[in-house]
Amino acid sequence: MRTWIVRRKLFDRIKRTQGMRCHWCKCQIKRIPLGYRGALDDDHATLEHLTPIMEGGAKYNRRNIVLACNRCNNARGGATGRKSAERLAAIRSTKGGGDG
Ligand SMILES: [Zn+2]
Repeated sequence: MRTWIVRRKLFDRIKRTQGMRCHWCKCQIKRIPLGYRGALDDDHATLEHLTPIMEGGAKYNRRNIVLACNRCNNARGGATGRKSAERLAAIRSTKGGGDG
C-alpha cells in the first residue's frame, strides 16, 4: 500500500479520536500536509510517534501516533522518548508568549 494512503487513514482516525489539535500544546491544527514533503509552516501538523520507531514503537499504530503542530515538532528536534517529553513540557509551561 502506498505510504500516503496509510497516512491519510491514520489522519482520519486521529482526527476523530484526538480532534484537530496539537497533542502537546493543544493549539488548533489548520492544515494537514497530506502527501506534502519539505518545509512546513506553523499551520501544518505532523504525525509524531510517542514511542520512536527506533525504540520499538509501532509505525502505523494510531495509539502510538499523535498530531503535533510544526512548532512543537521543531522544538522536539532530534530528541526522543523521555527527552522530547521534557522539552515539550517546557514549551507548554512557557506557552502564552509569541503570536500563538
Ligand atoms: Zn503544538
